[in-house]
Amino acid sequence: MAGLHLIKTYSSDSDEDKYDEEKEDDDKIVNKLALPASILSLKGDTCHEEVIDNPSDHDGRIRSFKHERGNWATLVYIDYTISDCLRTWMKSVLNELPIQGDIISSLHISLSRTLVLKFHWIESFVEGLKLLCRGFHQFVVQLTDVKVYCNEERTRTFLGIYCQDEDGTLKRLTEAIDCLLAEYQLPSFYKDISYHISFFWCLGDKQIYLKKILPSLTCSLNKFLAENMEDTYVHVKEIQCKIGNKCYSFELK
Ligand code: AMP
Repeated sequence: MAGLHLIKTYSSDSDEDKYDEEKEDDDKIVNKLALPASILSLKGDTCHEEVIDNPSDHDGRIRSFKHERGNWATLVYIDYTISDCLRTWMKSVLNELPIQGDIISSLHISLSRTLVLKFHWIESFVEGLKLLCRGFHQFVVQLTDVKVYCNEERTRTFLGIYCQDEDGTLKRLTEAIDCLLAEYQLPSFYKDISYHISFFWCLGDKQIYLKKILPSLTCSLNKFLAENMEDTYVHVKEIQCKIGNKCYSFELK
């Protein structure tokens, strides 16, 4: 859902619950002046405060799950640092589209759905993810063609660059993440996973309009990649997890 793009608006509730983003050397966990555990533990899910959602507060996007105290929007993903050239290509695509929408600035490859984590699960979940990542070697994925995606609620449509799972590591990684999620009875990733980097989104289900131009967009992308070989492959060295506003990075072997 360009989950990363939205996760801030979907994250937990009050500002005082939010973490600061800042990396640490070890597993790069953000840690400013830590609150005593006794205070932190008060932030459980005992208080359920109804928040009335107003889509106009976030570009017309509709929340995919209820906004509740103690619920932390979570996404496991690979951060993608884009080159200036590829960014220029993405912007050029806007002129060819039959519908209005926006280019996504912060790019990633999702390895999970957007999940709802309870506050008291966070510590063990992060620890589990850290251990899991230690069991995987760094790997490479290849950018191939342009595909269209729609979120489950059919409220948003995306254009994404499909990522070829060169040696099957992405699949094994997602399977391992799914196993971890199952321990928390959280939903696994899609059965027919299509790894991708979403770069454009628009409101509503606009798949039929966008599907028509996929061949020409893929053709244009392939031309671009042939001229910019260094953009064809993504070298994955670490995995990210965003929980609320807090980012974790886990290095691969
Ligand atoms: P993302 O950019 O990773 O947030 O993905 C954009 C949207 O693609 C999400 O809302 C997903 O629900 C949707 N999507 C639809 N089909 C798939 C699929 N087969 N694999 C991965 N994401 C999918």
